[in-house]
Amino acid sequence: MTDQNVKTYMLTGADGKSCQSPTKVTLGGHRKDKIYGTLDCAGAVRWIACGHNVWQRDFFANEATAIAAGFRPCFGCLREKYKGIAGK
Ligand SMILES: [Zn+2]
Repeated sequence: MTDQNVKTYMLTGADGKSCQSPTKVTLGGHRKDKIYGTLDCAGAVRWIACGHNVWQRDFFANEATAIAAGFRPCFGCLREKYKGIAGK
């Protein structure tokens, strides 16, 4: 395996538009509710397990981008950050 075999990911940028990027996804968001959380968040896994389409989710390279796109932290997996933003 070499670095030529780099995968690209569909990421959502701060402007809310999707783009292909080789940057690894670290956060998943829910497009309708505008909430982002970890990729293994229990809520997100349950969402997919329920048969909802994965493509309704947005993916972010980091949380700064997620917040800039208007998303809020997930109460389940990012509770400290959720409190930090809600407490402003
Ligand atoms: Zn979560």
